[in-house]
Amino acid sequence: MHTLLLALLLSTETDAGPPMDAGPPKDAGPPKDAGAPKDAGAPMDTGLPMDTGLPMDAAPPVDAVPLMCVAPSMDAAPPANPLPDFAIARVRTQEPVVALTFDACATLKQDNGFDREVFDILKREQIAVTVFPTGRWIETHTAEAKELAAEAWIEFGNHSYSHAYMTRIPRRQAVEEVGRTEAIIAELGRRSVAFRPPAGAWSRSVVRLAATHHLPTVEWDVVSGDAGGHVAAEKMVATVLSTARPGSIIIFHINGRAPYTKDALPDIIRGLRAKGLGFATVLDLLHEPDAQPEPAQPSLLGYPPLHDSKRGPEKAKGIVDEHSPD
Ligand SMILES: [Zn+2]
Repeated sequence: MHTLLLALLLSTETDAGPPMDAGPPKDAGPPKDAGAPKDAGAPMDTGLPMDTGLPMDAAPPVDAVPLMCVAPSMDAAPPANPLPDFAIARVRTQEPVVALTFDACATLKQDNGFDREVFDILKREQIAVTVFPTGRWIETHTAEAKELAAEAWIEFGNHSYSHAYMTRIPRRQAVEEVGRTEAIIAELGRRSVAFRPPAGAWSRSVVRLAATHHLPTVEWDVVSGDAGGHVAAEKMVATVLSTARPGSIIIFHINGRAPYTKDALPDIIRGLRAKGLGFATVLDLLHEPDAQPEPAQPSLLGYPPLHDSKRGPEKAKGIVDEHSPD
């Protein structure tokens, strides 16, 4: 694990772009927002700019972060390992556990909601989970957010402020997207344990931006498909049960836009248990003694395995819309 990470980090230390990136040019010469971190608390009342075409990789502050020396900030124990220099899809481990994760996505234009029935199922089953709210979701669901924060079995992650494509927004905004939500989560009396970029759009700069807050970037390897209600409960159950394995990170939603999650979840929980799999939070997974984080597929545009041509126009937006699978 250490050797692998060290090799990965050393081999990529001078590369400002995302690993294995065959997509858009990485260093097209955009202006540098050298003072970006100062703006983390800046108001955003003018709304978010749409895609400016500015890749983040040219901005200097985050790339200077020595990942090997950064320890994630945790609610509990310090990390067993340095932060990986990639977005994590799953954690290779012999421990028969998986992590259920629930995104609570909201944008500046769309508050979405809260799936209380999902919350009640998890509470009844006493399953520790990781919830990734956007800062905007917390602001528009203050009572529910406090309710989540009061539950020790719920771990918090950071899902940006406005659900922006982190790879397609100006550097200064990207810094604010993460920092502002960290501050909002802190106001709940909690600390996030990971950063989950909307749409799974990530680059090494995004990972390093999260690392400035001592957060690993965490995606998923099992997609329930619950977002938008396009997948029936039975299909979700079959998909999750057939693809989950030890160390899997499974993505669901708890923001009122995944109507069948509550129907699928009991069978998914029952089925995973029948397969001998238990439940861990993302932080638990990362702390398994034999934990070896595995990288997510690099994606500057998001949804690498799921993307289809119908989403083409939406890709041009700076904000991930309501149909996003994450
Ligand atoms: Zn999301």
